[in-house]
Amino acid sequence: MARTTTRIVPSNPQLFRAEVVRTFPVSPNMQRVTIAHEGLTAFPWLGFDQWFRLFVRKPHQDAFTLPDISGKKWWKEFLEIPEDVRPHCANYTVADYRGDAGEMDIDFVIHCAADGSLEGAAAQWACSVQPGEQMALLDQGRIFDRPDDAAQVIIVADETGLPGVAGILRSLPDDAVGRVIQEIPAAVDQRELAGPSGMQISWIVRDDATMVAGVKALEALKSHADVHPMAYGFVVGESTLATEGRRHLHKMGVPKERITFSGFWKHD
Ligand SMILES: Cc1cc2nc3c(=O)[nH]c(=O)nc-3n(C[C@H](O)[C@H](O)[C@H](O)COP(=O)(O)OP(=O)(O)OC[C@H]3O[C@@H](n4cnc5c(N)ncnc54)[C@H](O)[C@@H]3O)c2cc1C
Repeated sequence: MARTTTRIVPSNPQLFRAEVVRTFPVSPNMQRVTIAHEGLTAFPWLGFDQWFRLFVRKPHQDAFTLPDISGKKWWKEFLEIPEDVRPHCANYTVADYRGDAGEMDIDFVIHCAADGSLEGAAAQWACSVQPGEQMALLDQGRIFDRPDDAAQVIIVADETGLPGVAGILRSLPDDAVGRVIQEIPAAVDQRELAGPSGMQISWIVRDDATMVAGVKALEALKSHADVHPMAYGFVVGESTLATEGRRHLHKMGVPKERITFSGFWKHD
């Protein structure tokens, strides 16, 4: 993940264990997995784009094995788990959280290799997992950090940012104004997003399996002339979109400290 300017990080990240209760295709390129556990009722829900480290069983492993790692030094403890039993770890966003029920939704982008086969251990897990499967997540707080004096909010994302964008729009105050440039693989991946009426949403449809995600969103950002110098910029998705998007917003007059950017994944 590329550097971000600001982050709201928990001082002592907590691990939560849960099990899969159902899976459901939100759209042809996005698979939703709903998890639940009594312990998840205590999840420190912040809204916006709260994210976490996801731990899931790899296909060759008979059981899900994870010691009680937590806190900021979790990575060292994680690497000490013998490789044959160490679960897969990837970064995901809380797509929705129902505290009373101790339930959480996670939306996984389904991504494929050049030969059309499903790739990515987390995406593969989401597409094949059955109810009852054990998993865990380590809370990482949120990335979106709009200053109180932001005159405008400019959000740019590829499909990996869509769960976060949906959460941000639900969490923003009613008087927030600005624009969302949201790239999606196909028109069928577009969905209703609830949010302030002053936030205009532009859906950018890639419609080309050979094109790298984020290229079209970046083009759309570059053709968007209305950038207020007191804007807050938030650019996430494929690494080039994040870094070039930030560069462009800065060129348009937005100070670097008012732009949050994060490379969610890197095209090989
Ligand atoms: C803070 C944060 C929040 C995130 N939230 C979400 C989320 O809610 N939903 C979500 O789907 N992703 C999200 N991501 C992105 C996700 O972590 C990556 O896409 C991750 O690589 C997926 O893991 P994997 O195990 O499926 O694939 P990996 O094993 O990491 O990668 C396998 C191969 O797939 C390629 N690849 C990875 N992701 C994609 C993609 N999206 N499109 C095309 N090729 C890809 C890689 O380049 C690599 O070649 C988030 C990332 C961050 C940093």
